[in-house]
Amino acid sequence: MGGVDVTSSPLSPRRPTRQIHVGSVAVGGGAPISVQSMTTTKTADVEGTLAQVYALAANGADIVRCTCNERAAAEGLAQIVPRSPVPIVADIHFHVEMALAALEAGVHGLRLNPGNLRKPEEIKLVAREAKDRGVPIRIGVNAGSLHPEIYERFGGATPEALVESARLELAYFDEVGFEDVKISVKASSVATMIAAYRLASETFDHPLHLGVTEAGPLPGGLLKATAGIATLLAEGIGDTLRYSLTADPVEEARAGRQLLESLGLRERKGLDLIACPSCGRAEVDVITVATKAQAALDELNVPLQVAVMGCVVNGPGEARHADLGIAAGRHRGHLFIRGQIVRVVKEDEMVDALVDEARRIVDEGVEARLAARDEAAEAAAAADRADLLDAKGADANRAGERIERIRARVEHE
Ligand code: SF4
Repeated sequence: MGGVDVTSSPLSPRRPTRQIHVGSVAVGGGAPISVQSMTTTKTADVEGTLAQVYALAANGADIVRCTCNERAAAEGLAQIVPRSPVPIVADIHFHVEMALAALEAGVHGLRLNPGNLRKPEEIKLVAREAKDRGVPIRIGVNAGSLHPEIYERFGGATPEALVESARLELAYFDEVGFEDVKISVKASSVATMIAAYRLASETFDHPLHLGVTEAGPLPGGLLKATAGIATLLAEGIGDTLRYSLTADPVEEARAGRQLLESLGLRERKGLDLIACPSCGRAEVDVITVATKAQAALDELNVPLQVAVMGCVVNGPGEARHADLGIAAGRHRGHLFIRGQIVRVVKEDEMVDALVDEARRIVDEGVEARLAARDEAAEAAAAADRADLLDAKGADANRAGERIERIRARVEHE
């Protein structure tokens, strides 16, 4: 409902990559771009970690990564994997034993950082074992933990250095005939990350996992991660992504999902609340109403685009593409579906009416709700619109008046 038509997307066509499978989730090769996040619990805490995995899955994560840094974590994974609603990837830090233990625990994927696990024999041992079990590996290069030799050779964590690190790791995998690989070349610098992924996309045909590493807390982290990830997605680069935020990981999953939905790269699964920025014409405090509506609709988790508009003069028209919306005017709320006024309610009932209608649209469908509209609503809205235009004039912000005064002054000088 109300989504962007993916077939007519103005984004660059997605760059072809080979396809791998992380458990039941296909990555690359034209598969839907998947959202990843990472748990922050101790993996040994099975119930706590599973609760977080479920929360992440409910908020849009397709794949979840857990730390596997000690034996207790690997043992936890053995219990988490079979009970998880989504595939589980283990992040191996420095120890080959942890990679082997995670595979033994039955994980659906491994992430290896070439800067951390450095011995070629150990890397090949893990690749051989993963190959035997049909488990894919992400080569997760990170600018902050680049292999020292490469750092030295390139004079820093440059885009070329990041891609070279991935290429060297891939060469070890090739030696043992392991091809089930996706690659990430993350940096905390958005510009470096964009350049690195562009180069990786030209260099490899493996699926790419996008991310701005250590993006930081909200809202800055969200902006940095979006700047990097969205730029690449618009260029057709990227097969899976993770927002690395210093926040509840649920925010990462939501952000990833919302980004993909807003770009028309995934079908809408949750709410898309749009609201006007408000202006001199607003008949209600748009921020308050939008915040209340967001909280109430979030609980419903409806796959709708819902608009909160400050006035009935422009609101229903400006948001006619929304599945549902409400516009204020003369102490009343004008409820509209796809731009058509269906009901007029008291101002203090606006949010309740919006939530009630959202629920009904999901149950009965847009057409049925349009058919059930109050026939008198459109005329009532037209009368309110006319009254408001009379009261405030067509130029509610008085820009016209100001321009006249400016002209009068300039003419007299
Ligand atoms: S004209 Fe109405 S809908 Fe548009 S920004 Fe102003 S209050 Fe909102």
